[in-house]
Amino acid sequence: MEKLSPESWLVKAARPEEPGAPLNTPIIPSSNFLKGAGIQYSREDSTPTWNALETIVGELEGGECVAYSSGMAAAAAVFAQLAVGSKIAIADDCYHGVTKLAAEGQAQGRWRVQRVAVADTEGWKAALLDSDLVWLESPSNPLLVLADLQAIGSAPRKPGCLLALDNTVATPLNQQPLKFGADISMHSGTKYIGGHSDLLMGLLVAKDPGLASRFRHARLLHGATPGALEAYLATRGLRTLAIRLERAQTNALKLATYLEQHPAIENVRYPGVDSHPQHALARSQMNGFSGLISFEVKAGGEAADHLCNSTRLISHATSLGSVESTIERRSAQKGQEHLAPGLIRLSVGIENADELQADLEQALGR
Ligand SMILES: *Cc1c(COP(=O)(O)O)cnc(C)c1O
Repeated sequence: MEKLSPESWLVKAARPEEPGAPLNTPIIPSSNFLKGAGIQYSREDSTPTWNALETIVGELEGGECVAYSSGMAAAAAVFAQLAVGSKIAIADDCYHGVTKLAAEGQAQGRWRVQRVAVADTEGWKAALLDSDLVWLESPSNPLLVLADLQAIGSAPRKPGCLLALDNTVATPLNQQPLKFGADISMHSGTKYIGGHSDLLMGLLVAKDPGLASRFRHARLLHGATPGALEAYLATRGLRTLAIRLERAQTNALKLATYLEQHPAIENVRYPGVDSHPQHALARSQMNGFSGLISFEVKAGGEAADHLCNSTRLISHATSLGSVESTIERRSAQKGQEHLAPGLIRLSVGIENADELQADLEQALGR
């Protein structure tokens, strides 16, 4: 078969091919396997259910994929590669769990951490000359700032420095960090890949097979293995990723445009609108802009809470990337107190766009 488009690959890849085989790689609830073939014990080897998921995502991003029990388990496997005394540069707007992982390791004397503003290309270039791990997030969450992947990925580095990018918000369809020179792309598969708020999953994709085998080794020793059901559900989620994303993006563009002209709202951030300060960069390095929007309620935190409590179709809940739209006031989350009190993060789902807009309209009117 010729090389498929990403949308067709998502649907067709990693299915059993023998005559009479099921169309779907089954959930294999077994830790132990009969000796004689490759797999003996799932934690140490793999299972066909994990392999299917890893094959699909690895090919999309141009590397070798290793699946973990959660996004944080995947991130921790990267940090576990660092020798004591290493230097880390991480994004200033970065997933709060990763920020904490870095900060706690620093407090224990394991490494030193430097924060770099996501859009500060010169800052990243300097960090690459002087760090053992550079951890980017683009678009960042929740402020949706972009890093210039071409400039950063092609800049000179200290030998051995690993360049990693949390690609959760972008998804493997919208952005392929390894193609810009990153060593590692990381995903919380809990979000767009699973897409239904019903599983936890983490993924690392490494360009270098040697690095991928270190990640497999970390998974084996730490026991951070994905569940059989979760791996199946993540694969099932990938089958519909292209159409879920397409709908979420169309909806997000409509809602961002609506929110921008609303008198009670300011600082709408969505990489897909012309007014985003890095819209041109977004167009140059992303295939689509995903479904995450953030904005500020002018009247502040209390009014923002009121908005989140007043939506009916949109669920007042955390997380992102699911079929259902969710809304939350970010600074009310633990570890996010530095954000503007009125800052709202809206993860746009696949519902009817007019009904989503009407829901925001009625909630803002109350
Ligand atoms: C959710 C998330 C994580 C952590 O993933 P878990 O699956 O919850 O462990 C990391 N990065 C980003 C951007 C996320 O949204």
